[in-house]
Amino acid sequence: MCGEMKIISRQEAKVLGLKRYFTGKPCKYGHICERSFSRGCFTCEREKTRERRRYNPEQHREQHRRWREKNREYHLARCRYYAQQRSLKLRRALAVLHELGLDL
Ligand SMILES: [Zn+2]
Repeated sequence: MCGEMKIISRQEAKVLGLKRYFTGKPCKYGHICERSFSRGCFTCEREKTRERRRYNPEQHREQHRRWREKNREYHLARCRYYAQQRSLKLRRALAVLHELGLDL
């Protein structure tokens, strides 16, 4: 994941609405790789997850499976909600562009 990538600032990524971005600068643990707005450095996140699994692989799998079953409805509802929000946001953005006379 740390190959050639377009360097972009956090600010620019935000303006462009990207979920992940690559600044070319190391995180506090020295990983030079992509980051996400919600979770930060990808390598850090991956290592944290791996660590958790190494200590408790069975429990992790089992918990995840149970969580999914228990939250099936909730998960589906949340997916629908986010899809709705996305289209609302898009419509609002298009309305702003329209007001500015910048119709696409
Ligand atoms: Zn890191």
